[in-house]
Amino acid sequence: MMKKIQMVDLHSQYLKIKNEIDNAIQQVIDSCAFINGPAVKDFQKDLEEYLGIKHVIPCANGTDALMISMIALGLKPGDEVITASFTFIATAEVIAVLGLTPILVDINPDTFNLDPEAIEKAITSRTKAIVPVHLFGQCADMERILDIAKKHNLYVIEDACQAIGAEYLFEDNMRKKAGTMGDIGCVSFFPSKNLGCYGDGGAIFTNDNQLAENLRAIVNHGMKVRYYHEMVGVNSRLDSIQAAILRVKLKYLDDYARERNLAADYYDNAFNNHPKLKTPVRSANSTHVFHQYTLVTKNLDRNGLLEYLKEKDIPAAIYYPVPLHLQKAYFNQRYKEGDLPVTEELAKRVISLPMSTELDDEQLEYITSSILEYANK
Ligand SMILES: *Cc1c(COP(=O)(O)O)cnc(C)c1O
Repeated sequence: MMKKIQMVDLHSQYLKIKNEIDNAIQQVIDSCAFINGPAVKDFQKDLEEYLGIKHVIPCANGTDALMISMIALGLKPGDEVITASFTFIATAEVIAVLGLTPILVDINPDTFNLDPEAIEKAITSRTKAIVPVHLFGQCADMERILDIAKKHNLYVIEDACQAIGAEYLFEDNMRKKAGTMGDIGCVSFFPSKNLGCYGDGGAIFTNDNQLAENLRAIVNHGMKVRYYHEMVGVNSRLDSIQAAILRVKLKYLDDYARERNLAADYYDNAFNNHPKLKTPVRSANSTHVFHQYTLVTKNLDRNGLLEYLKEKDIPAAIYYPVPLHLQKAYFNQRYKEGDLPVTEELAKRVISLPMSTELDDEQLEYITSSILEYANK
């Protein structure tokens, strides 16, 4: 019988490395070094090496990583931060929580990532930073975004929560990993992310020594020396058990990306050139780690398709149904419907299919033939 299809199959993934994971967890329990134990430092070092970056600062989750980055860069209320409207809420939320002003702009319809021209048009004298989101596992147009940032003297904070392991290719053939190109990079280790732990987790990346020192202080109540608080900080730690799990899984991250790409290739082949289904466009400058495999429907009842799949026991999801600039919490005098046409159109037409390291051909065949059945009706 066919294995039940899940949006992300974490259990099958765990079973393949069960011994290693169980041992890693048991070691932390035996040591009782639950907070800032050796596992955290070991994982930090391994990740620094994997990414080719000087500093990884582990923290409690991806949302904190973004917020702490903005605190460390000294962004102040009234400062404007440009980011995408087509993203998970966390990106804009932390900007607003800090009293900064999120400026939400449109995206490239092929890559779902920030449109550099839209960024440039949105820059004012109050703009302090750009937050490119490497959405669905593919890097934003970093060459142009970094050029714009340099020209206008802006910080770049990469939201790489969905793209850990993706690689960007610059025009001079230099390759850099997602999260290591801007001033700061942020990732999440939420269980369903490409490198997921068994709870919450996150990390901040930078090559800047001074910034790293401040980031390390901020995640730990603003202290560099115990009980001496040099700056206002927060409590945002990656716990040792999660670090131990991540250290095991990091070894498999590139294999995981390969497995996701195999599933993506299967989908691509099935839907290739279909008049009603546009497959994800692979950017020439970035590898894709397929956090999501997202189709854009054309002349097709997208919500009907979603319902149809549900009836067939195939989970699918809409990332994201309502753009941030039209969300109640962010909709203000600045935005009205129609302001970001690409984002608004995609929100109505996208559908993300099951994607994980564990999809087998039988499942993929069932998913693709069900979708084609609906689309060809
Ligand atoms: C998951 C995610 C976050 C937040 O990460 P958490 O660990 O859940 O706080 C931020 N931005 C994007 C794009 C994400 O996908």
